[in-house]
Amino acid sequence: MSGSTGSGLGSGNYRPVWVEVDLGAIRHNVREIRRVLAPDVGLLAVVKASAYGHGDAQVSHVALEEGASWLGVALVEEGVRLREAGVTAPILLLSEPPADAAEVVLARSLTATVYTAEGIRSLAKAAGDLGVCPEVHIKVDTGMHRVGGSPEQALALAGLVLEEGMVIGGIWSHLAVADEPGNPFSEVQRRRFDVVCSEMEALGIRPRLRHLANSGATLLGKEYHYDLVRCGLAIYGYAPSAELAPAVDLRPAMTLKARVSLVKEVGAGEGVSYGLRYRPEGRSLLATVPIGYADGLPRGLSGRGVVLVGGKRRPIAGTITMDQVVLDCGQDRVEIGDEVVLLGEQAGERITAVDWAEALGTIAYEVLAGVRSRIPRVYVEGA
Ligand SMILES: *Cc1c(COP(=O)(O)O)cnc(C)c1O
Repeated sequence: MSGSTGSGLGSGNYRPVWVEVDLGAIRHNVREIRRVLAPDVGLLAVVKASAYGHGDAQVSHVALEEGASWLGVALVEEGVRLREAGVTAPILLLSEPPADAAEVVLARSLTATVYTAEGIRSLAKAAGDLGVCPEVHIKVDTGMHRVGGSPEQALALAGLVLEEGMVIGGIWSHLAVADEPGNPFSEVQRRRFDVVCSEMEALGIRPRLRHLANSGATLLGKEYHYDLVRCGLAIYGYAPSAELAPAVDLRPAMTLKARVSLVKEVGAGEGVSYGLRYRPEGRSLLATVPIGYADGLPRGLSGRGVVLVGGKRRPIAGTITMDQVVLDCGQDRVEIGDEVVLLGEQAGERITAVDWAEALGTIAYEVLAGVRSRIPRVYVEGA
């Protein structure tokens, strides 16, 4: 432990608020995922949005060390950042890059996903200018209707890629309901994907990589794995739904911690924070913690969230403000500097991103990705 907060934070950080990312948990989760994959199935680690808030360069290094062979990002900017951090592994852009990014994509050796004629032509033009012959992955929309070419367009797009002198390195699709094990639509999408793959094969086109599965589909079953699975959430230690959780042993990698910055005692019935919406039932010790909604502690947890201090669950007292939150510690002793756990474990008690998500009516993805870069990340290698 070093620094003013006792958190291992580097110098220049004065506020005692930090995210602890357990790279040991990431390693464990990658191994757990690989355990359900056949030996010839590859793993693409999805590290978009700063690795769901965990830090993309750090997570990438660890995932690659544990046997992931690809990385996936949403934005060209994210791929460029990883290259600048020294990552040399293949990086797939999960959406078609904007036409004016084509040159950067190729110069940085990012693998583009394509699904429009314009997208293919702008990449081909940049490839000609740079004198390279890139591989691209064709994305087929098998029913989610977000991005991708329709199954009918897929063959024409494949033809165009070849005509333009590029290589089809992959064909892939994405499932809409993979987190719902009983939902027959995943099978519908899988069959549509198979049809497109066999139509291509009939024309002599057999891309090296066919892929369909996100974390949910990876846990659904081997028939969804094809040559590569694309996992995000599971790497960070959460199953996409409670039904899928038993399939693997996942450990949440993110802990959100802080220290109490001020303690005050108030009498029964005194109002607390904006709107005076919280009134303790008896004399209470209130602990102020310097974290708020501008850090990704959602204001929607006001009056319903709980936080760990002294190994006990403490209610959030009233409205969460932009940079501060107040906790009701009742009659228990609490002091300035005491450790606060907003996400994670303390003395056997545990609060997860799923707890927050349930209180907020959202999903763990949004909670994790919502923890802002304003909070410094500290990397540890837990057991
Ligand atoms: C984000 C994303 C993933 C990862 O999804 P998880 O549910 O987090 O595993 C996989 N594929 C695509 C296309 C994505 O956009």
